[in-house]
Amino acid sequence: MTTTLITGIGELALPSPSFLSTGAGASTGAGSDGSRFTGTRPTVELRRDAAIVVEDGLVAWVGDASSAPAADERVDVEGRAVIPGFVDSHSHLVFAGDRADEFEARMAGRRYEAGGIRRTVSATRQATDEQLRTGVQHHVRQMHAQGTTTVEIKSGYGLTVNDERRSLAIAREFTDETTYLGAHVVPAEYTDRRDDYVTLVAGEMLERAAPHARWIDVFIEDGAFTVDEARHILTAGIRKGLGARVHAGQLGLSDGVRLAVELGAASVDHCTFLSDADIEALTASADEGASTSEAATTGEGTGSNAPTVATLLPGAEFSTRQPYPNARRLIDAGVTVALASDCNPGSSYTSSLAFCMAVAVRDMGMTPAEALWASTSGGAAALRRTDVGHLSVGARADLVVLDAPSFLHLAYRPGVPLVSRVIGGAKSVAN
Ligand SMILES: [Zn+2]
Repeated sequence: MTTTLITGIGELALPSPSFLSTGAGASTGAGSDGSRFTGTRPTVELRRDAAIVVEDGLVAWVGDASSAPAADERVDVEGRAVIPGFVDSHSHLVFAGDRADEFEARMAGRRYEAGGIRRTVSATRQATDEQLRTGVQHHVRQMHAQGTTTVEIKSGYGLTVNDERRSLAIAREFTDETTYLGAHVVPAEYTDRRDDYVTLVAGEMLERAAPHARWIDVFIEDGAFTVDEARHILTAGIRKGLGARVHAGQLGLSDGVRLAVELGAASVDHCTFLSDADIEALTASADEGASTSEAATTGEGTGSNAPTVATLLPGAEFSTRQPYPNARRLIDAGVTVALASDCNPGSSYTSSLAFCMAVAVRDMGMTPAEALWASTSGGAAALRRTDVGHLSVGARADLVVLDAPSFLHLAYRPGVPLVSRVIGGAKSVAN
């Protein structure tokens, strides 16, 4: 087994893990070792002149470069900053087609509506497996080049039994974090019989999708699905062994946020519009854990008392010219917050977590450290993963070397390619 010493790290950014380890080496697993997710404060420890030893793809040692142990290989990063790889917990990469014209029209004043998704559905249904696979690979490679080493990928542009199944099977070739989103929008052919579509999503479609998915998600919004429909679909998915996640609060206040907490969802995504009661529910989920025990049945890495993370997707507000979510309000209330790209061809076609960090710092009230935490440890919490998003001994050695003296440059120099080198990363990129 080869050991590699990464030394000469000018600034090593160490986000606090989002969970409490309960045993030796607990962070090597995915929570199945008894680690407990918790509502930790989003802090980042900074070490100067640091070094890391990597053994078999895992962090084996972290400390001062001057006291580093011997290793088989040595990589000197010459004073650059190093961060953990980004964990992008929300993306929609299985699609065909392009909607640049809609973006252009929105920037000229047209309002964003959830129904634009149907255009991508039509293009995706017409695409071959190979075309879809090539598209996912292209986007995952772009993400990796920008420092993302773990990515969640949703279906949701197929919306037939077979198109959802094949979307998930293709996504699975690139990541284990696959999410069944048959409830993205009601497809055009079901407009006059939406109940039949809900029955299909919670029935036969779920049956065929589940073997390729870890998670189930519902888009709760005017023009998409109601809270009652979401409850029915998510409950069916949880019974099938999938973990729950929810899109809610993007375009207006929604009871979907409290539904997510009630069902023990790992994450509720968007959270642009939140009532005080929503924030109280999210805070309580971090303090006490989910209020039902169903979360405990959602597979490895999902503890029964894990908080429901509020995942903010500023790329969507940027691209639809909507107000940004108030991250400060959430963090001050003790809610666990993640940042993710929401990469999709309609409402947020960025795959850059550095861009999301910059917006979060500039316009959402986050400090740079909180934005880094949310893009790494927060993303891991949203996927209930203990092995990524931080660099404690035993974690996956997914590292990003920045062409910068400090991680601050990620927000300070928006739009500038600062990733010098990425070590480790999703199975996708090895293909
Ligand atoms: Zn989304």
